[in-house]
Amino acid sequence: MDITQTIFKELDVSYGSDNVYYQIISAILESSERLQLPHHLKLLMAQPKNEIIVHFPVRLDDGTYRLFKGYRVQHNNVLGPYKGGMRYHRSVSLDHVKALAAIMTMKTALVRLPYGGAKGGIKVDPHALSHDELMRMTRRFTSALCPNIGPDYDIPAPDVGTNAQIMAWMADTYVNLSEPENRLGGISVVTGKPIEYGGPQGRDKATGQGLVYVLDELLPETGLDVRSISYSLIGYGNVGSWTGRLLQERGAKLLAVMDHTGAIHHAAGIDATALARHVETTGGVAGFASADSITTDEFYATKVDVFIPAALEQMITEEKAAIIQCRVLAEAANAPVTPAGERALLARGIAILPAILCNAGGVTVSFFEWKQNRQSESWDAATVDRELKRLMVAAAQRVRASA
Ligand code: NAD
Repeated sequence: MDITQTIFKELDVSYGSDNVYYQIISAILESSERLQLPHHLKLLMAQPKNEIIVHFPVRLDDGTYRLFKGYRVQHNNVLGPYKGGMRYHRSVSLDHVKALAAIMTMKTALVRLPYGGAKGGIKVDPHALSHDELMRMTRRFTSALCPNIGPDYDIPAPDVGTNAQIMAWMADTYVNLSEPENRLGGISVVTGKPIEYGGPQGRDKATGQGLVYVLDELLPETGLDVRSISYSLIGYGNVGSWTGRLLQERGAKLLAVMDHTGAIHHAAGIDATALARHVETTGGVAGFASADSITTDEFYATKVDVFIPAALEQMITEEKAAIIQCRVLAEAANAPVTPAGERALLARGIAILPAILCNAGGVTVSFFEWKQNRQSESWDAATVDRELKRLMVAAAQRVRASA
């Protein structure tokens, strides 16, 4: 019996091997075996501390009510308050949220932020709701979670399907439900807020910027230089589109992009800024005039130096890994590669830069925001970038040393 089966048997829980929570915990347990950690620590890491599920009604614009299911999983808080994003997506489930919460524990520890790990969300398609419905749902979700979050206890942030506006609604709801003496510091209950409501300079680009600093630090030993690489992206939302725009500033060439609306390719390079504008107005990459439409398999098979998944979990299966043509895969999304996919990529000599490093820029700038809110400070953009670079480079060096 391997370590994962042994631990889950002791915890009296069972998961299929294609379950994303099983896969993440198994990766953590295999590493803890190598590090010869004591048995009780393995048990602790294999089970979140708290799994909160809330059901709450929301009045829709047509006057009817709908009951929503929301989650908050608090994996670990040994190193500080629970910290992690809130996702609004149809695929949100308890095991998904548990997996993402465990990843957050590892990520904040790697960057040495004073946080633990958490994640949450609602199983919903946010695009199917009106602006007002989205606001009412967010406010009801926050009130339902109110006793379980707090600036010193659990600090949510944006993730897939949520943004600065949603964080502002969460903070405002929390503040209004707080005792008057706690209201002043109440907005630091969430990060990723708009700048005019205590958000930091550069939060939007933070995850993409962090990835660029990691690539600067680690690509040279693979014989690549950020300024001359070709690359492809899955996902052109917050992380994908900022990665695209920032890599373009360095001179890198974006050959192909795929999102939920389709896949596109342009051999001379896709204009990342123009594509960001197109996605903002149309909702996806499909129909972008300055590129050709391609199939999913043609997207995966596009030869690039660096392949960057920046969308959802488990997209790179063994089958997709067999057709990917790249030298380095940089995991901008959380857990984008299945264990079988990872084995297939490594067997083909493709280097994988892990998500807990590559996308840690977001939580790092969230930490700066939390710190500024608590100290009533406001850093300028250059200070945010300088500090982000310092922490990301140090984390990249730790990953290199451990690897
Ligand atoms: P987002 O909602 O802004 O964008 C998600 C992107 O994924 C969109 O372009 C969407 O079209 C694409 N997508 C969804 N389903 C798809 C499918 N079936 N096939 C292809 N593409 C699909 O989300 P985001 O904030 O950019 O997050 C992306 C990833 O990065 C997630 O794994 C998230 O957990 C991780 N992450 C985000 C942050 C952050 O600061 N936003 C920080 C750390 C990690």
